Amino acid sequence: ERMKRKWKGYIYTFYHPDPEIEYVAGKGGVPRRVHTFRCFNKGCKQTVRRYLDTGDRVSTGNMTRHAQRCWGEDAVKVAASYGTVERALEKVAKPMKISGKLTTAFAQQGKGKITYSTRQHTRTETKAEIAKWMAQSFRPFALVEDDGFKTLMRTGRPDYYIPSQSTVSRDIKRIFVRTCSRVARFLQEYDGDLSFVTDMWTSPNHIPYMGTTVTFEHEGQLVSLVLDVVQVAKVK
Ligand SMILES: [Zn+2]
Repeated sequence: ERMKRKWKGYIYTFYHPDPEIEYVAGKGGVPRRVHTFRCFNKGCKQTVRRYLDTGDRVSTGNMTRHAQRCWGEDAVKVAASYGTVERALEKVAKPMKISGKLTTAFAQQGKGKITYSTRQHTRTETKAEIAKWMAQSFRPFALVEDDGFKTLMRTGRPDYYIPSQSTVSRDIKRIFVRTCSRVARFLQEYDGDLSFVTDMWTSPNHIPYMGTTVTFEHEGQLVSLVLDVVQVAKVK
């Protein structure tokens, strides 16, 4: 903690907040204590060592040089202008604007490999991510109040916000209603051919269902949406 207070320099904005403490052999085999800082940039594995037994302890030359290369000189300059790590982190290393809308997190969904942000979720993003996860993977809402889940989420960050199961349930219903009207509006305004398909089948417990899908081309991609699945009252 005492050391951390010395690390008020803005340059730490660009590194993981907790450096690893290591010992390396110095002259004559005398162990030297070093702090190994990992670059905070996405995908960057660069580490910078700082020796604690020399003047290096307060100099930040190597850290600055890597940050300038990795994040750009402008980012380092802007971070310097904010003074404290907290403010620099907020203004520079977290440049992503957070709109606070539940739909924001959905818009970011890309195809292919999943990448993880180095920034923690906001409350709204957590709610959106959990709603998306539960809806897409058919998870029971009660999972959010499961002790094992809470342990996984809150280890290392005990204040992490987790919505209650009634919040998740309400969010998913809200998203569903909004998505329905968005899809309806989209289809009504669609300039092209829409192909509707129905399919009927019987579940293993002998209940007949009918599903309706629509297929169309959108921005060069074939899109197929399930519009509804209804139980068929009587099959003659
Ligand atoms: Zn880097």
